[in-house]
Amino acid sequence: MSEPGRGRGEAEVNAARRRLAARRRDTERRVAALRRDLNSQLETPGTGDDEHDPEGATLAFERAQTQSLLDQARAELDDLDAAEKRLNDGTYGSCLRCGRPIARERLAARPAARTCIRCANRRR
Ligand SMILES: [Zn+2]
Repeated sequence: MSEPGRGRGEAEVNAARRRLAARRRDTERRVAALRRDLNSQLETPGTGDDEHDPEGATLAFERAQTQSLLDQARAELDDLDAAEKRLNDGTYGSCLRCGRPIARERLAARPAARTCIRCANRRR
């Protein structure tokens, strides 16, 4: 009663699902922490004049840094959503660019990876 041609094994899919869920928990925690940071940075008073107040400029820089980390974390959540969809339609683990399988080690390190290491390097 084996089903040949079903692609990746059930165990492998389950392992990927667990990895994605764990990564999502981490990332959601990071988003929440960064949001708190950003809110407290925005609440800091005396920053009305960023251009002439050196302290204000530093605060503006810190805020911009926190914001960009927050954007990155949100983008990762989008990647995780997309990876879960690929897991459900059976295309997870294949490079979106060249169609070749993504190395197991890469998926372990970056469960939401869309491309194989070769394509990822070529882009840069
Ligand atoms: Zn590729």
